[in-house]
Amino acid sequence: MEALPVFLNVRNVRCLVAGGGEVAFRKARLLARAQAELHVVAPEAGESMLNLLQEHGGRLDRREIREEDFAGAQLAIAATDDPGANENVSRWARARGIPVNVVDQPALCTFYMPAIVDRSPVVVAISSSGASPVLTRSLKEMNEVMLPARIDRLALLLGSMREEVKGRIADFAGRTTFWENVLGSEVPELVYAGKENEARAAMERILGGAQQRTGEVWLVGAGPGDPDLLTLRALRLMYRADIVLYDRLVSAEILARIRPDAELIHVGKGPEMHSVDQYTINDMLIRYAREGRKVLRLKGGDPFIFGRGGEELTTLAEAGINFQIVPGITAASGCAAYAGIPLTHREHAHSVQFVTGHLKDGSLDLDWPALIRPQHTLVFYMGLKSLPIVCEQLRQHGMAVDTPAAVVSQGTTTEQQVAAGNLVNLPDVATSQNIKAPAIIIVGEVVSLRDSFAWFRS
Ligand code: SAH
Repeated sequence: MEALPVFLNVRNVRCLVAGGGEVAFRKARLLARAQAELHVVAPEAGESMLNLLQEHGGRLDRREIREEDFAGAQLAIAATDDPGANENVSRWARARGIPVNVVDQPALCTFYMPAIVDRSPVVVAISSSGASPVLTRSLKEMNEVMLPARIDRLALLLGSMREEVKGRIADFAGRTTFWENVLGSEVPELVYAGKENEARAAMERILGGAQQRTGEVWLVGAGPGDPDLLTLRALRLMYRADIVLYDRLVSAEILARIRPDAELIHVGKGPEMHSVDQYTINDMLIRYAREGRKVLRLKGGDPFIFGRGGEELTTLAEAGINFQIVPGITAASGCAAYAGIPLTHREHAHSVQFVTGHLKDGSLDLDWPALIRPQHTLVFYMGLKSLPIVCEQLRQHGMAVDTPAAVVSQGTTTEQQVAAGNLVNLPDVATSQNIKAPAIIIVGEVVSLRDSFAWFRS
């Protein structure tokens, strides 16, 4: 991170603004909204600034800024068109340890002003650390659109009941569950619909019946790697979990979206890395849920596709633990889309089959004749090591040697690589491109369509 995001309490705090023009006015207006005590110094002040000072109150000195203006100030903003004055403000403020922002001159700043979406008391602050103001603006627009207009009312309502809830539910975990129940109930929608009295009554009802916290397991697919491919439900549960057991395939970018105070446990598992075996994982899920925790079992792709999700659920069901299962985008779908290979196609493939290419004792135990069908796409998971065997067996069992085939490695991530060829040359192409796991192999006519989507190539 380039800078530490914080929200500064400037209520009744003297804040110095150098400049009286439109830009200075916009900064002063923000300070006024945060109830700061304004001190504006500028040889000339525009009409907007004068109006603001009249409405909000504050002092205006019509002259150049001086060093003694900093006495008693606790924050400074410079928005003048005089480079010398801007530099002076920066220097004098730093000398006194006062946070300073000089508009559009990052080198002179000790803090930056984020773009904000203000639904006070809910405030969203956005920054791209100066990388792209236009991107920042579009993120602001996204937030403006997505945040319910009355989220401010919801926040105020929740805030108004905090003390009462504290008095009635003694333990922290119990209160967290209560608030989660409220947010998961009809309360938010009632507030958004303007029915605040009904919303309050619903909250009282939930409070009256506030129960002991019960544990639960959420078996969630995290998709193939790109965090944008998480489902909304996955994201919501990632933010509600107390403890997270995750696989090797779950990317760091996805882990970064989990609630910061959740406990994270890496349970590995990969062809060469059996860090925690399946029985231990099953036991852990049960134990944590019995402790009353919300347990997130986060898996790459989809939990029910080569993910052993079925086994975990069976154990949970037998133990009588509540669970939820959330599908994810499986590697085949994600990789195919990002590589420009449609898995089915009116002219080229009427069916698609997902197969495991995992070697057992150095060989692949598959029903090869059954895999070879016209207008059929095959996707091999866990097959990078067995790529030469896969190609050879398909050829030996009668598949045309020039059948197009591709390997997609680290699909959907920024590291994605695609090696394309046919059943004869693909192993060599993959080796020469130094293709790494995790990777899937796609075999079938559809692979050739990639050429007509040339714009997919990076
Ligand atoms: N449940 C997962 C699959 C787990 S098996 C899913 O639905 O996707 C692990 C195999 O998935 C890997 O060996 C690889 O073949 C494939 N895989 C997972 N993520 C991948 C990715 N980002 N790119 C390519 N292959 C991937």
